[in-house]
Amino acid sequence: MQAKISEIFKSVQGEGIYQGIPQVFVRFFGCNLECAFCDTPLDSFKEMNIQEVSEQIYSYEDYHSITFTGGEPLLQVDFLTELTKELKIKGKELHLETNGTLHENLEKVIEYLDVIAMDFKLPSSTNSKAYWNEHGQFLRIARQRKVFIKAVIGKDTDIYDIHKSVILIKRFDPTLNLILQPQNPFERELEEKMCLFKQICRNANINARIIPQAHKVLGVK
Ligand code: SF4
Repeated sequence: MQAKISEIFKSVQGEGIYQGIPQVFVRFFGCNLECAFCDTPLDSFKEMNIQEVSEQIYSYEDYHSITFTGGEPLLQVDFLTELTKELKIKGKELHLETNGTLHENLEKVIEYLDVIAMDFKLPSSTNSKAYWNEHGQFLRIARQRKVFIKAVIGKDTDIYDIHKSVILIKRFDPTLNLILQPQNPFERELEEKMCLFKQICRNANINARIIPQAHKVLGVK
């Protein structure tokens, strides 16, 4: 069995509640969405088998956990399931970064995952259709593991999408963390908007945090 892999590398986690910890990243090629703000290089890949991927992972030392990212890793779920099964036997901690739309594929692999970082794709941020139903179905399954939610906030992000996010989180688990991630960590004009959105969450007793992408600030991969 082979998968299309964009890259495998070791770095520090730049996003979310695990920001700053050393991880090995396996970036899967391809995505089922087209977010307006996407800056993921999705133009090249290498066909690799399970042994080739796991050997490259084992070549790294001194890391906390392994993150599967993309693109959308769940598009290649059969490979991901086999790979995570093998890595779990070796005692590795496994994290998944996902756009939170492919719940049926998540169900196939969730038993081998420890942490799920799922996106809420706010239509006013992505300039695309809404995925509230998909996110709800995904969250219902993801809650079996440690999960947090990330939403990218840009200058066009609408307050309505924050209210929708709050409603969804309250319906499934009001204790979940919502990470508000500025699309551009250097854009000062976003500060007021970020604070307003955080306050909306606080008023609804949802734990929201503003966390910019550290790797962009630090200039690392
Ligand atoms: S889900 Fe992620 S990889 Fe896919 S288009 Fe959106 S930002 Fe890019």
